[in-house]
Amino acid sequence: MTQSNINYEPATCAYCGGRGDVDANQCRACGGQGSVLVAQPARECVQCQGRGRKSAYRCNFCQGTGWARALKPGTR
Ligand SMILES: [Zn+2]
Ligand SMILES: [Zn+2]
Repeated sequence: MTQSNINYEPATCAYCGGRGDVDANQCRACGGQGSVLVAQPARECVQCQGRGRKSAYRCNFCQGTGWARALKPGTR
């Protein structure tokens, strides 16, 4: 078995909670879409426990998506 064919599924963006905006600004984690493509099987970011942020700051390990191995918006 190889893992060459990675399947991506949309998942709720943790940083904006799926709304697409944060404090009336477009969410930078998902580009305002409210969801991000995550490589399956989806795994929460271990750095922020899936919250997308550490205290007041966007988690730079998952870019705020809350997911490990998430694609950034616009890269597909
Ligand atoms: Zn978002
Ligand atoms: Zn994170």
